[in-house]
Amino acid sequence: MNVQWYPGHMTKARRMMQEDIKLVDLVVELLDARVPVSSRNPDIRAMAANKSRIVLLNKADLADEAQNRRWEEIIRAEGAVTALVNARSGSGLKTFGQLVQEACREKIERDRRRGIKNRPVRAMVAGIPNVGKSTFINTFAGRSVAKTGNKPGVTKGKQWIRLSKEVELLDTPGILWPKFEDEEIGLKLALIGSIRDEILQGQELALYLLGFLAEHYAGTIAGRYGEIDEKLPAPQLLMEIAKARGCLKKGGEPDTDRAAALLLDDLRSGRLGRITLDRAGEA
Ligand code: GDP
Repeated sequence: MNVQWYPGHMTKARRMMQEDIKLVDLVVELLDARVPVSSRNPDIRAMAANKSRIVLLNKADLADEAQNRRWEEIIRAEGAVTALVNARSGSGLKTFGQLVQEACREKIERDRRRGIKNRPVRAMVAGIPNVGKSTFINTFAGRSVAKTGNKPGVTKGKQWIRLSKEVELLDTPGILWPKFEDEEIGLKLALIGSIRDEILQGQELALYLLGFLAEHYAGTIAGRYGEIDEKLPAPQLLMEIAKARGCLKKGGEPDTDRAAALLLDDLRSGRLGRITLDRAGEA
């Protein structure tokens, strides 16, 4: 689901998030492992100020493994409970219960001191569009012990998915708006498909990507599209990709719009390999 954000959407998303967050002890913030900085919502810290928090780097299967390890370390060093996960396959989620225990240690201790026993931790998932929130919920819902119904007075209109004796997950995710701070963040979010790429923007995105790959992932283009001189300037490189893939206009000229679309599709599906756009250490 790609979203074009307008101020009205942001206000609505913020209001819904503020309502739902009142119901939970724990916020599970999903980031896209390919863009751990750009996919972070600027206001989540303030909104979740008095809540426990887990930061999951999702789609880790699409991101660079060395960068994954570095980002995991950086986020852990910031004091967050974190893990690399793949919400689609469920990989990395087996230990989710342990992460919850770790993130909610204070709450669990406090309950114990007050003599409250076995009160499950209530959690919600939050993140920008397309980061994998629904996938995450469905992966758990599929194996959940039971779905709990509405609890009158307490959770009006809300469904909870019981993950275990200790954890209940709100079945609707919190949608966070992305950062619009600078153009580069916008380009990266459009590249991974989190914000809509207008048709006209396709070429701009492709050229940016080609420049990025030349700097960080040499060999990727030649590896995917065959004998192409990667040292060519990006616009020419795009023409070469068009030719290599038979993207031609009626007159036989390279169709760079189609080549751009193909390149972006190859990136998003992982066919270009595992690529991290936000570089650890350069953020
Ligand atoms: P939401 O908008 O945050 O709810 O995102 P969705 O759950 O709809 O996921 C968006 C797309 O990303 C879907 O095509 C999912 O199959 C895909 N997806 C979600 N998690 C992962 C993951 O960990 N790895 C990969 N490769 N794809 C994922």
